[in-house]
Amino acid sequence: MVNVLVTGGAGYIGSHACKALAAAGFTPVTFDNFVTGWRDAVKFGPMVEGDLLNRAEIDAAFAEYKPVAVMHFAALSQVGDSMTQPGLYWRNNVQGSLNLIEAAVAANCKNFVFSSTCATYGDHDNVVLDEDTVQLPINAYGASKRAIEDILRDFEVAHGLKNVIFRYFNVAGADPDGEVGEFHQPETHLVPLMLDAIDGKRDALTIFGTDYDTPDGTCIRDYVHVCDLIDAHVLGLNWLLDGKPSRVFNLGTGTGFSVREVIDRSREVTNRAVPIKEGVRRPGDCTKLVSGSTRAAAELGWAPKRSTMSQMISDAWRWHQTGHYNS
Ligand code: UDP
Repeated sequence: MVNVLVTGGAGYIGSHACKALAAAGFTPVTFDNFVTGWRDAVKFGPMVEGDLLNRAEIDAAFAEYKPVAVMHFAALSQVGDSMTQPGLYWRNNVQGSLNLIEAAVAANCKNFVFSSTCATYGDHDNVVLDEDTVQLPINAYGASKRAIEDILRDFEVAHGLKNVIFRYFNVAGADPDGEVGEFHQPETHLVPLMLDAIDGKRDALTIFGTDYDTPDGTCIRDYVHVCDLIDAHVLGLNWLLDGKPSRVFNLGTGTGFSVREVIDRSREVTNRAVPIKEGVRRPGDCTKLVSGSTRAAAELGWAPKRSTMSQMISDAWRWHQTGHYNS
């Protein structure tokens, strides 16, 4: 058995990673503190309840499972919260990751796949966001992820820890088989909140800001299907296991959608009205985040298959109507 330690394996993206790793012949070992993750989402391999702020719990997982690699998803990831509780974000994301990275080195596990974010770039006007774009985050979430990228680079120099860093754009959609999907409590992300508004689970979707410098005044994001995102992770893992060098890859499709365009597309896909309210800007939000890189396609051979907006909304809608977790 070839084990891969998946931190945050009980969360939205991590659970999809576990499914894909199992399909690719690996055993995904979920390491999760279940603060935001779900036990019901751990379906594809063993589960370890542990916290990245507790080094002994991480060491025990490495000792028991001897993973060949780490996929590190566990993090707090809400831009808005990171602006009001920066200490929580720095401690949880940066200290937790440092503990994990040190434990990996101590256990001689030298392959590390890391979930970073386009939020590390910050707000750039008319700049194509590729992996060489200067990282100037405007929120504590992005800053915490940039710090972890720096730690990984230092640990490669000092300890030979090889890493693949993926800078995600906006992740949406769900497993087409309906085994896992997006389920946060409380929910903060655009697509699930919009689907809640469509089927009456909340009164309306609030658009955060209609006065941005974009054609329709709302923020623009680059959405990628969670299954496509995870395909890239399996390619990245094999890249490291094949002995290739550490590398950073953007994961986005290169197409931007405004909040209003996502709403319009949802109306078409679900054939239902989307009740909306126009609200104020959310602190920390960038105006536009769209990938301008083809590196993942060129070097990893990554080819997104489900990342059209209609497909992402339709997969999310199916999951939204049928799937959820109880614990
Ligand atoms: N957004 C919104 N209303 C909501 C949630 C999100 O208008 O209730 C907007 C948000 O301002 C951003 C986009 O939708 O422009 C995506 O936000 P999300 O929180 O899903 O992801 P993020 O971009 O923060 O990673």
